[in-house]
Amino acid sequence: MNKIDPEMLNILACPIDKHYPLESYFFTWVAADKVETGILFCSKCGRWYPIGNKVKTIPELYPDSLREREHEIEWFNNWRHLIPEKIKSWWVTE
Ligand SMILES: [Zn+2]
Repeated sequence: MNKIDPEMLNILACPIDKHYPLESYFFTWVAADKVETGILFCSKCGRWYPIGNKVKTIPELYPDSLREREHEIEWFNNWRHLIPEKIKSWWVTE
């Protein structure tokens, strides 16, 4: 499985508005320089993108139409205690 080099995250852009760099928050690490789980946040449109889940440890930078909402809600709730307030307040669940 691929793990994330945090440096790599600096070049990732939001798939919706191409804004970058995305704000990144890391939750777990597999080594000092390898992120396992975290979240990317686009300060322009307010979307967030998970890093790491059950099947992948690469960021999932999908446009809205390809996102699996139920899966993401489960992921979000798993890490809720570590997710910054400003992301939570943007992401209102229906
Ligand atoms: Zn954006």
